[in-house]
Amino acid sequence: MFSIKAPQGPISFTRFVGPFINGKFRPTLATSPATRALYNPCTDELIDTVNEAGSEDVDLAVQSAQAALKGPWKEFSGKRRRNVLLNIASALEKNMYKLTVLEAACGKPFEEAQFDIEESIECFRYFAGHADKIIGQSYATEDNLKSYTLRKPVGICGLITSFNYPLLLAVWKIAPALACGNAVIVKPAPQTPLSCLLLSDLIAAHTDLPEGVFNVLPGGEAVGNAIVHHKGIQKCSFTGSGGVGRKVLAASSQSNLKPVTLELGGKSPMIVFADADLDQAVEDVFGAIYANMGQNCCAGSRLYLESGIENEFLEKLKARALQVKIGDSMDLSNNFGAMVDRTQFDRVMGILDQAKAEGLSDLYLGGKRHGDKGCFIEPTIFRNVDENSLLARHEIFGPVLSVMKPFVTEEEALERANATPYGLASGVWTKDMAKADRCVQELDSGVTWVNCYNMTPIHLPFGGVKESGFGKDLGYEAVNEYLTIKTVTVRV
Ligand code: NAD
Repeated sequence: MFSIKAPQGPISFTRFVGPFINGKFRPTLATSPATRALYNPCTDELIDTVNEAGSEDVDLAVQSAQAALKGPWKEFSGKRRRNVLLNIASALEKNMYKLTVLEAACGKPFEEAQFDIEESIECFRYFAGHADKIIGQSYATEDNLKSYTLRKPVGICGLITSFNYPLLLAVWKIAPALACGNAVIVKPAPQTPLSCLLLSDLIAAHTDLPEGVFNVLPGGEAVGNAIVHHKGIQKCSFTGSGGVGRKVLAASSQSNLKPVTLELGGKSPMIVFADADLDQAVEDVFGAIYANMGQNCCAGSRLYLESGIENEFLEKLKARALQVKIGDSMDLSNNFGAMVDRTQFDRVMGILDQAKAEGLSDLYLGGKRHGDKGCFIEPTIFRNVDENSLLARHEIFGPVLSVMKPFVTEEEALERANATPYGLASGVWTKDMAKADRCVQELDSGVTWVNCYNMTPIHLPFGGVKESGFGKDLGYEAVNEYLTIKTVTVRV
């Protein structure tokens, strides 16, 4: 057992002995087993030590998934798959508090953590609705020929995710993959495996999902690398950094050319015009950069303000940022938590030091560690940021806003906003809807928000362009990521 201090008192969890394969937790088969100590980044206290999986476990997971795909899972109709997903959603709902505690123990404010679990539940329900609606097309090609398409599951899907939304990002992939009848091997981020492991437990206890369909392999680069190179895995969906995304793509080309979905990083621009509702824009920009302490792929990290509004806007934003209550995520009165671990904390602090030394911006707010314990970093704002500086170009993945030099024309704002290799998200604030529409058309990003930010409906596709990746999570497009299409022609 391990125990975590939570808002309603300590809560106990059964230790996960190792990876979840073929319907049960089992000791790793790795010849040199690795363990990872997980610390609460708010308190520096040890939460648990996790036994990580090795490449031998990937082999076993693939074998059990193959058996399930040939056997019982193949017989599940769309209706039965739908019911499995609905049962998973209900099990999550009943265990919402426990799951929230596990996510909050990774440094995320409790309320934000609870929202992630609620979204995970909704995501299973949304994709449950797709499970019994997978349909093809038919076409009468010639007089005596009839053609139609068959849509079939891809097979075994390797799902690899990052640490910032531990359960939710995994569910974005697990739910459509299962809805389509695939088997999955999930590899959560090494810093945050616990909620996916608890999900395994809930699936085993509360659903009739056949053994082998759902597998979770905790671990880091070694097990991720084994998944992406495995020839028995037919699809890989990856969320993480561009550097690792490139390795995933290379592994596909070096192994079996498995199709790859890449959800990568961003350096998302936000453009605020002088005619915007500035109070609303301040609130939105605040959330855009500081939600999850900036550990958000869509984080609005470059702010372009129209010339003339800069001082008023920044004073309001600073006042808003100073209202945050930084501290232990298990204390419900705190609304700003910690970096996920010491490594991320040191990385962001290092960037702050480099940015200060570079001298291509002015520090306007924060820029320091908060307190002398835990991995807290103050909400930080740099202004007059040069387009060529580290702050403008590098994905910081922390609570650091770069306010760029003000812009004068719409064309200039758009050109500067697009001058990045990334293309994940962007935001525009204006009351002029014709102007907003022109910006929507011109901004090179997979997502654009107008007069709002970070709204991600499950019903619509999510994903980037340019070096932020390709392929989609969420929406109907995500269903297509987990199906193959066969065209059949019959002489009648
Ligand atoms: P990361 O790239 O370091 O790790 C992501 C995952 O890849 C982890 O599970 C890791 O263990 C695994 N991994 C590492 N090496 C591997 C290898 N050689 N082969 C296979 N898997 C390997 O990213 P991170 O630090 O966990 O997350 C931060 C990054 O993720 C940021 O760039 C962020 O923008 C991005 N992200 C993108 C989205 C999106 O939807 N576009 C969402 C969240 C995070």
